[in-house]
Amino acid sequence: MKIYNTLTRQKEEFKPIKEGEVKFYSCGPTVYNYAHIGNLRTYIFNDLLKRALEYNNYKVTHVMNITDVGHLTDDADDGEDKMEKGAKREGKTVWEVAEFYTNAFKTDLKKLNIHEPTVWCKATEHIKEMIDMNKEIQNNGYTYESGGNLYYDTSKFKYYAELGNLNLNDETNSRVEQDQNKKHPRDFVLWFGLGNSKFGSEHAMKWDSPWGIGYPGWHIECCAMSSKYLGNHFDIHTGGIDHIQVHHTNEIAQAEAALNVHPWVNYWMHANFLVIDKGKMAKSGENFLRLALLEEKGYDSMEYRYFCLGAHYKSELKFTWEALDSAKNAYTKLKKKIIEIKTTTKDGSDETSKYIEKFENAINDDLNIPISLATVWDIINDDTLSNKAKYDAVLKIDEVLGLNFKEMEEKAINIPQEITDLAQQRIEAKKNKDYAKADELRNKIQELGYIIEDTKEGSNIKK
Ligand SMILES: [Zn+2]
Repeated sequence: MKIYNTLTRQKEEFKPIKEGEVKFYSCGPTVYNYAHIGNLRTYIFNDLLKRALEYNNYKVTHVMNITDVGHLTDDADDGEDKMEKGAKREGKTVWEVAEFYTNAFKTDLKKLNIHEPTVWCKATEHIKEMIDMNKEIQNNGYTYESGGNLYYDTSKFKYYAELGNLNLNDETNSRVEQDQNKKHPRDFVLWFGLGNSKFGSEHAMKWDSPWGIGYPGWHIECCAMSSKYLGNHFDIHTGGIDHIQVHHTNEIAQAEAALNVHPWVNYWMHANFLVIDKGKMAKSGENFLRLALLEEKGYDSMEYRYFCLGAHYKSELKFTWEALDSAKNAYTKLKKKIIEIKTTTKDGSDETSKYIEKFENAINDDLNIPISLATVWDIINDDTLSNKAKYDAVLKIDEVLGLNFKEMEEKAINIPQEITDLAQQRIEAKKNKDYAKADELRNKIQELGYIIEDTKEGSNIKK
């Protein structure tokens, strides 16, 4: 399997650290608001990647965090704490806000048929691990204390520019409103001390630490939790492309300083944005589109999944209602076709291996899902194949696409076994040119409340 590695900026053959196993970490949501459909595109990408790895027989351990503390409105330590902001907005406690939006997030994942990670972990339940890791970073000489906060000194880490391909010399003094406590613009907070007036003493979530009472910086949680559940060196780390320059760059700086490893993670993969006419999707204003809004407008969540499968994860995907309509129509048509090949018989070739090969080559070429989806249509439209062969092949591909082809069948058909048995006997009778028996079976089926329609392609049973 080949995947594009942001770290090396090339497509590479995936080689796991331990044969047959993949340890995989994805940055999860900050639970101060609903996820927008652009966020959800990234989680669909994670799901497709995990399913493709499992299809290749890897045992995948997938860890995803829930950020419920420490994430400020600006990723580089500026602005308000997002959780506090959410609590103020809703007149709830930060803990209530976190619980509410965690549940909302999990509901969205379920609606999109996204498999849950092996481990969910909440930042607030891993404060000790974060403090321990900060201590290691401090002991190894990468920190300084200033204005009541503990900072990471980015000038001490020689690989700092690597992931984001940063030109650090150009950036000096580039931030207009720079935190005056920082030695270099790229330095970031490992621990916020509540003595610091800038960040306020009203903060609801706080813990004791060697640097005083306060709360952790945002970036440390992913390092502390991934190392707890996946070890100090693991295979794949994913997130949105907006994480490359700051969050993931800082994660690497912290983890490699604390754990004395390089590289900490072998493969970094990033999903591109969902964009709308007015630019990047955001959690405020008219650019904030939720899955629930799509449902209110009459779309099924799975139609959004189908829409996302039409673009490669590294490409920007442009959202328009017209494009979503096209996805809805295509998915509806596909569902009908799948129910048809499942419920009717048609003789033909059972040879689908060229399609399966095309699909496998596609997913193993940096997760080319659009080609995998096109292969489903190739199979459906191939008139030389038997219906059974078509159905078996598309179910196999759906292990990765996750479009619920099997579920469809179960929901759509309520034809009792007795009737399908009789219909099968009728097909046999016709094959043997025993037309009297075939007619007799048709009448019997009719007496039981079902009709058989013969078509060029085979026969349908209807209630
Ligand atoms: Zn992260």
